[in-house]
Amino acid sequence: MSSRNEIISAMKERVFEGNMALPQLGLVVLTWGNVSEINRDLGIIVIKPSGVDYKKMAKEQMVVTDLEGNILEEDSLKPSSDLKTHVELYRNFKDVQSIVHTHSRNAVIWAQSGRELPVYGTTHADTFYGPVPNTRQLTKEEVEADYEGNTGKVIVETFEEQNIDPLAISAVLVNGHGPFTWGTSVSKAVENSLVLDESCAMASGTESIMTDKNLLPQYMLDKHYLRKHGKNAYYGQG
Ligand SMILES: [Zn+2]
Repeated sequence: MSSRNEIISAMKERVFEGNMALPQLGLVVLTWGNVSEINRDLGIIVIKPSGVDYKKMAKEQMVVTDLEGNILEEDSLKPSSDLKTHVELYRNFKDVQSIVHTHSRNAVIWAQSGRELPVYGTTHADTFYGPVPNTRQLTKEEVEADYEGNTGKVIVETFEEQNIDPLAISAVLVNGHGPFTWGTSVSKAVENSLVLDESCAMASGTESIMTDKNLLPQYMLDKHYLRKHGKNAYYGQG
């Protein structure tokens, strides 16, 4: 049985590695982007500090908060300004263990279009079981009252209104802003950000040469998603 400190140290390690993976994968420039992980039993969230250069970032600088986002350690750096969005998503998406936010170019292009990302091919279907939704724009009042918290609320609202299982489609495009992805582990959540960005790039290219709308048939979506996920999955070595 690991001690609380050992568990937090391991969380910091994973969150640090997850954050460092974002620039390596070409998903962030400057200090844009953040990764977090939750431990619901301990009531802890670990998240990237705000505005720290990736080249100078250290594992020890990862910020530890409670489930409301209150800082728990002395001499802590300030958490990512998007922490309240993460808190809202963790509160509502109970099986999610890690959240990633980036401004990766291709996903931002789609987010800025205001359109959902349609399923044009199996690259998308292997990871996301349907179109990736785009939220509505936040209202002026929502932005002024609690911008980051309301960003989380509008994501949750989108999934509830469209009756989407957040583990079947572990990604969202926030209108006029960019992508959030999540998963049952840090590595899964980071991978989903990469797959989302690639799927967005491919969809943009497809639409630029497509003459008639050519969505992937539902049976192909079923085949590709369900052979990798769910109780009858058979893809890979697992
Ligand atoms: Zn952002």
